[in-house]
Amino acid sequence: MENDHFYNETKYCTRCADYVRFLRNLEASYCVHCGSKVKLFSAKDRRSFINGLKEDKERRRKKAGNNKRAS
Ligand SMILES: [Zn+2]
Repeated sequence: MENDHFYNETKYCTRCADYVRFLRNLEASYCVHCGSKVKLFSAKDRRSFINGLKEDKERRRKKAGNNKRAS
């Protein structure tokens, strides 16, 4: 088993337009290729991630509502 999971992490670099490996300091993470700050998600993925959370919440709320009505 290799003990290098940290280096297999990737974040999104807007300059490279790709998920890249990164260097981390206390404040931010930087692309190993171009040195730009990297983000956890691309803008597109971030949106779908947030939408996914919202849908999940809606679904849970609906389910809770149904349970209330049933009891
Ligand atoms: Zn980059």
